[in-house]
Amino acid sequence: MTTKLRPEDILSQYKLKNTACRKMILNELIKSETAMTEQEIKENSEDIFDRVTLYRTLRTLEHAGIIHSIVLSNNVVKYALTKFDADKVHSHFHCTRCNDVECLHDAVEVKTNLPAGYILHDLDIVVNGICNNCN
Ligand SMILES: [Zn+2]
Ligand SMILES: [Zn+2]
Repeated sequence: MTTKLRPEDILSQYKLKNTACRKMILNELIKSETAMTEQEIKENSEDIFDRVTLYRTLRTLEHAGIIHSIVLSNNVVKYALTKFDADKVHSHFHCTRCNDVECLHDAVEVKTNLPAGYILHDLDIVVNGICNNCN
């Protein structure tokens, strides 16, 4: 028994076809400990996919809820795997030294008090600081 995530399992779980580009992106994000920019994902893909394909595939995976994007204050967008359903609302840590972005699961507790009838979909909280590698 293995707990290792496999792109083909994730895609079938979300009823998406297993295309080469989807598999490549998921592989990169599974391997990476931190969130990646489109450019970083592309650098690892040996240029077999053009920019449009990569961009569209990222959108498809994001709409399906398999990955999520994190927008940093300098407008850089990074992508990370959404591992659990409960993972939908969480915060992120951005290291201002190495620029790495990680998903934080229990580190920040956020209490929202929305007016009646309002529904929370997601919450963008980016904690800026220095990660343990840089510290
Ligand atoms: Zn760092
Ligand atoms: Zn995240």
